[in-house]
Amino acid sequence: MGRITLDKVTKSFGEVNVIPPLDLTIEDGEFVVFVGPSGCGKSTLLRLIAGLEDVSSGQIRIDGKDATDMPPAKRGLAMVFQSYALYPHMSVRKNIAFPMKMAGLPQDEQDRRINAAASALNLTAYLDRRPGQLSGGQRQRVAIGRAIVREPSAFLFDEPLSNLDAALRVGMRLEIMELHKRLDTTMIYVTHDQVEAMTMADKIVVLQAGYIEQVGSPLELYHSPRNEFVAGFIGSPK
Ligand code: ADP
Ligand code: MG
Repeated sequence: MGRITLDKVTKSFGEVNVIPPLDLTIEDGEFVVFVGPSGCGKSTLLRLIAGLEDVSSGQIRIDGKDATDMPPAKRGLAMVFQSYALYPHMSVRKNIAFPMKMAGLPQDEQDRRINAAASALNLTAYLDRRPGQLSGGQRQRVAIGRAIVREPSAFLFDEPLSNLDAALRVGMRLEIMELHKRLDTTMIYVTHDQVEAMTMADKIVVLQAGYIEQVGSPLELYHSPRNEFVAGFIGSPK
């Protein structure tokens, strides 16, 4: 589970076309990074997949099913935003439980998933704290925990580490990659950071102005960039 296909997907806001016809296949279990400069359409693309925006035309398939008009909650995906998307007035436990509560899961199942997520993310000792009493890295782990308990077929990350300082970012990248290995789930990770793309991805999708410039493994892009844009973008240090 976790195969996602985009077939001639477009998105316009009013007169402005942000995503021209775009085809893309993400295989089950892949770690895919969307990378490109600010404003190139990375978040829009992720929001289309999540169902937070409607496509203007084209089709999105998830696990073989037409998901184009499916509401977000039905898609089996979980989106991870930056850490400030937590509810400040709720404990860590309640933040993590929130999507399960909305879905009406039985309490014992909620507790089982919370404990499993907390233990996977080293949050067991912090379940009764509020987000304001946590470090940036811990807050980001809570946001990931809230996604894990939904047991999604794919995780969608939108620049999840951009609020963290450089040292913490390195550690959190490793944690997310470790989690990918352990859960064996599709992950789509949006960043404007080339280093993040090169170190984390199985497959990189390089975007410019809504167009896919190239899709390939980090090594393929490094050794055989298709054009100057890809070469410059992947080659130049941040
Ligand atoms: P990125 O995440 O790569 O920085 P975005 O997907 O946020 O880029 O934005 C791509 C383009 O779409 C930008 O030019 C942005 O201004 C425009 N855009 C995004 N969302 C909207 C919206 N809701 N209404 C109008 N324009 C939008
Ligand atoms: Mg964005």
